[in-house]
Amino acid sequence: MKINKVLKSKLHTIDVNNVSFGSTFTDHMLICRYKNGKWEEPEIMPFGTDIGLSPATMAVNYGQACFEGMKAFKNENDEVFLFRPDKNFERINISAKRLAMPEIPKDVFMDGLQTFVDLEREWIPSELGKSLYLRPVLFASEEMLLARISEEYIFAILATVANNYYSNPLKVKIADHYTRAANGGVGYTKAAGNYAASFYPTSLARDQGYDQIIWTDSITHTYFEESGTMNVMVRINDTLITPPVSDTILNGVTRNSIIELARKNGIEVKEEKINKNDVYKAHKDGSLKEMFGVGTAVIVNRFSEVGYENESLQLPAIDEKDSFAAKLKQELLLIQSGRSEDPFGWRVKVEEKNTVLN
Ligand SMILES: *Cc1c(COP(=O)(O)O)cnc(C)c1O
Repeated sequence: MKINKVLKSKLHTIDVNNVSFGSTFTDHMLICRYKNGKWEEPEIMPFGTDIGLSPATMAVNYGQACFEGMKAFKNENDEVFLFRPDKNFERINISAKRLAMPEIPKDVFMDGLQTFVDLEREWIPSELGKSLYLRPVLFASEEMLLARISEEYIFAILATVANNYYSNPLKVKIADHYTRAANGGVGYTKAAGNYAASFYPTSLARDQGYDQIIWTDSITHTYFEESGTMNVMVRINDTLITPPVSDTILNGVTRNSIIELARKNGIEVKEEKINKNDVYKAHKDGSLKEMFGVGTAVIVNRFSEVGYENESLQLPAIDEKDSFAAKLKQELLLIQSGRSEDPFGWRVKVEEKNTVLN
């Protein structure tokens, strides 16, 4: 791997506690190009715009682009950890395959992450609940307007300061018209276009006072799929229910981890379809205790209010100590950040390599 380091880090010039999520990047980026049918040697270079792309870039015109979202954590002993990076590696290649992009070799992804995160370790905050957000992204970079599969790609890894990510309880609206994903489509991938398609309906929901949409099946708008860009969980009495992953539901790493943690805590978890009318009835009879979304960025985000048809359902104000959401979030965070035992073997330590300058 080629490494071209910055002469001076900009870290000390940034007020890291007061920048908004995703707006401030670390000193470097990893870039790996695919050309002539093969991946070239990855390179770590100063973060910036100098990758030479024109508006005729195929990703811009035809949308071959997908990404991952991960975090790097630091504990009190300055040890740095990734959380289940193999899952993100597998998933980016599932996305790549569906979008007709070349799969990323395992060493490019894994060694790339290790070397890149090691280089940026000063940027990783050690306070509990904080982390550095990592963004692996793969996109078609060929300059070509003929509508066909691109012959050139860039795989990049970026890192951004992640302090102020929104995590107040959310007001969510159950979708009754718009759709995030359809059968046979790309809903199970982290295709960039899935996000593009969700922005407009979400902005309409915002105009009605909601933060996010609970996406429903595209045909009947009856069954829950996901919430915004998180997987969705519903607690009825003491049972957690989440829809099974499918063509239209992303296989979330947080979702899987929360399910395993909940079961380890003796909580019954069902992976089955959730009918919005059953949720409505459970709200009326008092058995609906909690609803929340789960994903890398916020881990667990509780909902306070649900828009069902023309009604607004207030969820019970469950005490933190009785909340499954709060308990599972805290346990997962302690594992991720290297502060508790790791009974599932989920953490991957980032080794200090003392990379030589240039
Ligand atoms: C990224 C994402 C999630 C969450 O996945 P994690 O692996 O837990 O971060 C859920 N749904 C959608 C649509 C996503 O893009």
